[in-house]
Amino acid sequence: MAGLSAARVLQQAGRNVQIFDKGRRPGGRMSSRRNEHGLFDLGAQYFTVRDPAFARLITTFEQQGSVARWPSIMARQIDGQWQARQPEHPRYSGMPSMASLIEALAEPLKLEQQVRITSMTRTASTWTLEDQNGQQWSGFDHVIIAIPAPQAASLLEGIDTTLRPQADMSACWSTWVRFRDALDMPSGIDAWHGVQLEASTVLRWAARNQTRPGQHEGERVTLLANDDWSDEHLEDDPAQVADKMIDAFQDCYPALLPAIEACGAHRWRYAQPRQPQEDTPGYLIDGAAALSLCGDWCIDGRVEAAWQSGNRLAEALCRQ
Ligand SMILES: Cc1cc2nc3c(=O)[nH]c(=O)nc-3n(C[C@H](O)[C@H](O)[C@H](O)COP(=O)(O)OP(=O)(O)OC[C@H]3O[C@@H](n4cnc5c(N)ncnc54)[C@H](O)[C@@H]3O)c2cc1C
Repeated sequence: MAGLSAARVLQQAGRNVQIFDKGRRPGGRMSSRRNEHGLFDLGAQYFTVRDPAFARLITTFEQQGSVARWPSIMARQIDGQWQARQPEHPRYSGMPSMASLIEALAEPLKLEQQVRITSMTRTASTWTLEDQNGQQWSGFDHVIIAIPAPQAASLLEGIDTTLRPQADMSACWSTWVRFRDALDMPSGIDAWHGVQLEASTVLRWAARNQTRPGQHEGERVTLLANDDWSDEHLEDDPAQVADKMIDAFQDCYPALLPAIEACGAHRWRYAQPRQPQEDTPGYLIDGAAALSLCGDWCIDGRVEAAWQSGNRLAEALCRQ
């Protein structure tokens, strides 16, 4: 999100921008997973829209059908009872999944997927990047690194720069579950799209993917573990993690869960910043080294903050 946001501003200002992403598809922590059991969002679940410029962009995408309001029914577990309500501030999802927003943003841009940048060198006044296959990409007069802070710190090792990405980031285990039948609803609730599980020592959130705009069939649930539990189980086997998270969901779900058709777990090593980087305008620039950094960790662990970080950085670079 941060990288695409920066790239769009720079391209609109007439700069020639090239994006490298190690993933199979763009999106990073907003990417969605499709397997033979359906479509699952395992990273960002929804996003908020408060910044007026971000709101204008999202309105355009809403009109084009790549974004819609979701979840409109949030549940909460209070004293063992489930309560449902409409969110106070509207929340949005890509339509039909979070990756749809990324695809809409990426549409006018030039992306190289499955290219992991492993090192960077500066010769004369340009940067040369090297990828995991030893291929070199050269001729860049400025490099923006839009990746989680600990990964940015590794990439910058040995490079002469004042940039010091320091934000500490928490991990998160995400489990996807395809149930054979629809979940029974807790008493007093007709429907729920997402639920905050504050009383669980394992889970923090569950969502029903088939309730996302543009999706319909199949009970497809995403479960997110809380920070402490994810840290404690960081190196566990994914299959065992999935089992434990589903057991924890049954412990807090006030009805018997249907039979499971398939499930799996995904580990986000760097999920969200515990503390954003201090004292930044939302990005970091080292003009002398022709290098800059952006990402959610410069502001806050949210989709909108990642967009703001990239946007503000690109606007600052255009002013230079
Ligand atoms: C489980 C989970 C739940 C979340 N829930 C929410 C939510 O409900 N609402 C919300 O607003 N936010 C949520 N977030 C946070 C949100 O996803 C992030 O704030 C946002 O997506 C960060 O975007 P980014 O561009 O800063 O980083 P990223 O999405 O991490 O993008 C970095 C990109 O860099 C690529 N990359 C990394 N290293 C290299 C390399 N060496 N070479 C090439 N490419 C590289 C990656 O493939 C990735 O595409 C959640 C995050 C997680 C993990």
